[in-house]
Amino acid sequence: MVKPKKHLGQHFLTDLSIAERIVDQLCLHRGYTHLVEIGAGTGVLTDFLLKSEKFTTHIIEIDTESVQYLQKHYPELAPRITEGDFLNTDLGALFDQQPIGIIGNFPYNISSQIFFKVLDHRQQVQEVVCMLQKEVAERIAAGPGSKTYGILSVLLQAYYDIEYKFTVPPDVFDPPPKVHSGVITLVRNEVEKLDCDEKLFKRIVKQGFNNRRKTLRNALKSIQLPEALKPLELLNKRAEQLSVADFVTLTQAWEQTLEP
Ligand code: SAH
Repeated sequence: MVKPKKHLGQHFLTDLSIAERIVDQLCLHRGYTHLVEIGAGTGVLTDFLLKSEKFTTHIIEIDTESVQYLQKHYPELAPRITEGDFLNTDLGALFDQQPIGIIGNFPYNISSQIFFKVLDHRQQVQEVVCMLQKEVAERIAAGPGSKTYGILSVLLQAYYDIEYKFTVPPDVFDPPPKVHSGVITLVRNEVEKLDCDEKLFKRIVKQGFNNRRKTLRNALKSIQLPEALKPLELLNKRAEQLSVADFVTLTQAWEQTLEP
């Protein structure tokens, strides 16, 4: 058996019915054929994935001991196991730019970084089904007006339809994590490109939430909020009160002030 390593965020799921329930959340949005499991550990999710013939399963796992375990137990999968850090993996090259899905019981310490990577590859990643720390899962799925709504919620919801599915208690993991876990699904929406400058959109969202208790008029001062924009009603609100569409509207108005 693989002895769980804390620094790699290893908490192995021991409840097979929960593993199956996670895998059941896959909808194979737009019919992609390559599914990537991040951090397969000892294969509790992998086992269920390999039962499906609708997609090809690939693994990206950083832990050498887990990789060896998986290669031994799933010899047919061995050619599709990549040993390495998901965050440094070139998904475009690995899958020849083809659409993919992502699944995993994520290493909780890097889950936000995983999502920023998903955002960078939003044209390729059609779907994500994952388990992560409950609070982070809730935050990502939260809508405007909620205290937990934040940068990742807005950026991800701009391109994905997100649903919080269910909560998982600590005692079904070895070793049990200190926190509850939550399972969420992200399904790519129809937005090819936002109807505004996407880089500016991201800057405004980030800066707005970095000062989330301030009105946007004050929060955005440090990124040179244009003078001409100041009368805008939306700026009286705080970032957490704005929907994705409101942020797009604000970005569009900002861009207009920049036009010659
Ligand atoms: N899927 C298994 C293991 C989940 S624990 C289960 O549900 O039981 C998280 C897994 O992610 C571990 O196997 C760990 O080794 C792996 N991991 C941690 N950091 C990683 C990274 N940067 N890239 C890929 N895998 C990683």
